[in-house]
Amino acid sequence: MANPLEYIEIQCPYCGESFSVEIDVSAGDQSYIEDCRVCCAPAELQVRIDGDGEISEILVSAANT
Ligand SMILES: [Zn+2]
Repeated sequence: MANPLEYIEIQCPYCGESFSVEIDVSAGDQSYIEDCRVCCAPAELQVRIDGDGEISEILVSAANT
């Protein structure tokens, strides 16, 4: 298998800036908090991995609302 780490660009739900996050697709579905690189607010990421180890969906939401 190729490198399971993928870099995905997401948009911060607070400031609207885009930044990239590293996702380990071998870990399957996951959700975690990633601090925005620009405004440092905590964004909650929900990542869905399909059966082929590809990212099928990423949801980004404000973690403290
Ligand atoms: Zn931000």
